[in-house]
Amino acid sequence: MINLEQLVRPNIWSLAPYSSARNEYAGREARVFLDANENPYNAPYNRYPDPLQLELKATLEKVKGVPADCIFLGNGSDEAIDLPYRIFCEPGVDNVVAIEPTYGMYKVCADINNVAYRPVLLDETFQTTAEKLLAACDAHTKIIWICSPNNPSGNTINRAEVEKVIRGFEGIVIVDEAYSDFCHEQTFRSQLKEFPNLIVLNTMSKAWGCAAIRLGMAFASKEIIDIFNKVKYPYNVNLLTQRQALEALKDPFEVDKWVRILLQERTRVIDAFRMLPICQEVFPTEANFFLARMDDAQKAYDYLVDEGIIVRNRSRIQLCQNCLRVTIGTKTENNTLIAALRQMP
Ligand SMILES: *Cc1c(COP(=O)(O)O)cnc(C)c1O
Repeated sequence: MINLEQLVRPNIWSLAPYSSARNEYAGREARVFLDANENPYNAPYNRYPDPLQLELKATLEKVKGVPADCIFLGNGSDEAIDLPYRIFCEPGVDNVVAIEPTYGMYKVCADINNVAYRPVLLDETFQTTAEKLLAACDAHTKIIWICSPNNPSGNTINRAEVEKVIRGFEGIVIVDEAYSDFCHEQTFRSQLKEFPNLIVLNTMSKAWGCAAIRLGMAFASKEIIDIFNKVKYPYNVNLLTQRQALEALKDPFEVDKWVRILLQERTRVIDAFRMLPICQEVFPTEANFFLARMDDAQKAYDYLVDEGIIVRNRSRIQLCQNCLRVTIGTKTENNTLIAALRQMP
């Protein structure tokens, strides 16, 4: 069991949040709104949006299988990544542990918040163990970051080891499942009841095709989500985003269709890469991208840029020497990429 009061920074635990006009009347019927100094003209953009996004959360409850009061919505996952630092980590005192290599925002947010970041190198197959992650922790470790499927490697982190970390750690474990829609592994969202120290992240930016609207999600116990809501900006998700997300969530079958096509295409593009004489290895992936080790990644990258095709050069990242990270596009885009690489001089 965890003691949330001991984990949360004292100033946050005792914080009296900003109380907005819309917070105070919430729940009762009203006809005339003269409480928020809004302009009565220019509907619907004249009104402040719902600070707790209740309609959107009611829809997400059905789609994600998590109770609405266990969902936090933010301005991209970026906000859901930053808030745990501000909630749990005393700057200059506390630290976090993370797998390495992984998504870059965990370290950027640690640096911004002046929180020490302790990377734990994955092995050659991009796996880790609970023992290694827990050994990197001390009395000031508040958060362990696990990204699964991991970016940039694409593989899932061994589930039994992740469970051991969650059970064995007296702080917060955050599992970033940004790519879970592409993955056959069961999501950790369904185990929030079992693990009171678990936060799971999702995003509308990948499988849902809505990177432009900036909507990220955190799923956790109601106690943790209440603290997120206390610390966030009052109107952190704007009206246009809430509306567009509701629109997208109406059609989960469209997303299923996209995912099916992208997974088929992923197999096809990976097969083509494996046939390229300049490609040494493609690593196993459960996401909408893959990591490929090339003879000379910089050369292939520069050549593709000249051809107007942009992939991600991950060569300078640990364990990713000479690796390109390739996102799966449309059939036409993928064909363009493969044709170009086959013709590389
Ligand atoms: C792309 C990505 C996200 C999404 O971030 P948003 O701010 O929601 O767009 C989150 N986590 C990982 C690991 C990612 O690769």
